[in-house]
Amino acid sequence: MTAVDLGLPRIGGKAPGVADTATRPDTPYLVDGFGRVATDLRVSLTDRCNLRCTYCMPEDGLDWLPESNTLTDAELLRLLRIAVERLGITDIRLTGGEPLLRNGLEGLVEAIAGFRPRPRISLTTNAIGLARRAPRLAAAGLDRVNVSLDTLQEDRFKEIARRDRLRHVLDGLDAAREAGLNPVKINAVLLRGVNEDEAAPLLRFALDHGYHLRFIEQMPLDAQHGWDRENMITAEEILAKLRAEFDLAPSSTERGAAPAERWQVNGGPQEVGVIASVTRPFCAACDRTRLTADGQLRNCLFSQSETDLRTPLRAGESEEQIADHWRATMWVKAAGHGINSDEFTQPLRPMSAIGG
Ligand code: SAM
Ligand code: SF4
Repeated sequence: MTAVDLGLPRIGGKAPGVADTATRPDTPYLVDGFGRVATDLRVSLTDRCNLRCTYCMPEDGLDWLPESNTLTDAELLRLLRIAVERLGITDIRLTGGEPLLRNGLEGLVEAIAGFRPRPRISLTTNAIGLARRAPRLAAAGLDRVNVSLDTLQEDRFKEIARRDRLRHVLDGLDAAREAGLNPVKINAVLLRGVNEDEAAPLLRFALDHGYHLRFIEQMPLDAQHGWDRENMITAEEILAKLRAEFDLAPSSTERGAAPAERWQVNGGPQEVGVIASVTRPFCAACDRTRLTADGQLRNCLFSQSETDLRTPLRAGESEEQIADHWRATMWVKAAGHGINSDEFTQPLRPMSAIGG
């Protein structure tokens, strides 16, 4: 299921808006007032992390969510089952914080793989510890991984992630490929004056190893609120840096709801992607819904409000009642994130606690 024609207004302009006029149609799926249907669930398993990437969180870390607020495995699986069985979710991405820090991750993956219809399961990770765990995760039912890697230089890795762990990440990438978690994708954020000269080296590395590389524009989601538009490396700049060494032609593969715009490299078949959330927003095709580790539902990375599912879950509400809270939350999803509007305000919850 990708699109349902509900006879609702399509998104035309760039201004953010909220569906507040039409009545929600009688469908079990996660439709919004602009005709989009959410089928991809991003779940944060923990807000904790063992790195401190400068564009994500401060050196001292954050005040982590209290243990009592974090969903237990049983609670989390109950919500995920509702999402798959009642709401039409077909893809579940496990993220964080660092999802490999969640105790019992392999068991969670195995349980999710047992749902019917079976969702595709992927993991967004910094890959620390993946070298050891990739085979077991693949055996449990994990389909794919996205690994964050911003630099191939040890000193820079230490500067960006504030930890000396580059070797662990590279070993994790190798192990993921060996375990069949393919295609292994790499997410890279370029920072001005830090690693901006690594666009081409990162692509060469990815091509050599058979990884799929995607650059992500830096977004205003860091806990320190230090994002600066002037300082951000744009998709345009990234492409210019790549074109200095590679021939890039627009990919012939249909983009669908994928956040990355893709280019064929040197005639293909290998490709490179750019996720230009700021300069080329793709909100009109968004198919995502998000659940935080403390059971809060968000209809957008940038939304200013959340729906508490933990309280009704713990109060014993029925699965259909919980599904209805989920449907109502998605119905009022705004047309766009509004980063480029003067009224934009960064959400209180940082990326590491939402789940990127
Ligand atoms: N810890 C895991 C990791 O790093 O892959 C998963 C969580 S992390 C928040 C998910 C993705 O968000 C990573 O690829 C990271 O590079 C990206 N990210 C974090 N902060 C960002 C920001 N301010 N702008 C753009 N991407 C960001
Ligand atoms: Fe941790 Fe991922 Fe944020 Fe880096 S980007 S600090 S690895 S959550």
